[in-house]
Amino acid sequence: MEGKKVFETYGPLETHDLGRKLGAQALPGQVICLEGDLGVGKTVFTQGFAEGLGIAGPVNSPTFTILQIYEEGRLPLYHFDVYRIGDAQEMEEIGYEEYFYGHGVCLIEWPSRIEELIPPEAARILIEKAPERGFDYRRIAVQ
Ligand code: ADP
Ligand code: MG
Repeated sequence: MEGKKVFETYGPLETHDLGRKLGAQALPGQVICLEGDLGVGKTVFTQGFAEGLGIAGPVNSPTFTILQIYEEGRLPLYHFDVYRIGDAQEMEEIGYEEYFYGHGVCLIEWPSRIEELIPPEAARILIEKAPERGFDYRRIAVQ
């Protein structure tokens, strides 16, 4: 993910599709931060991304488990949702370093909760609504 690209989607299927395309291009060791408010489409994007990696099973936000691991795809997918994380200590207990610095791909929802742990080379994806563009519009900046 070199440079910055902005995508616009007009419904969940299009965001899913963008995720699928980026998932198909994902490289070993990538850490991708997924930023944006509640209900903006981070999990929809992740579901597409997982499909792009060749993961068939259902993918849901691991809000209560923090981490969900999928190993049946082209690369392992480590899906973090750290919305409910208390502190960095909890990440240590999960053993996050094995995943952040492993050969799979990490997708992290709510990275701002653990900003001090995010590797500087991590990619950033920001999903935003723009009410004047309609309820289902999303602006997705990939950097
Ligand atoms: P988050 O994980 O960011 O909290 P979710 O992915 O769980 O959000 O939910 C996004 C919601 O927004 C879904 O109900 C989805 O159908 C809806 N939605 C509407 N338009 C879009 C769009 N363009 N892209 C993604 N989701 C959309
Ligand atoms: Mg979510």
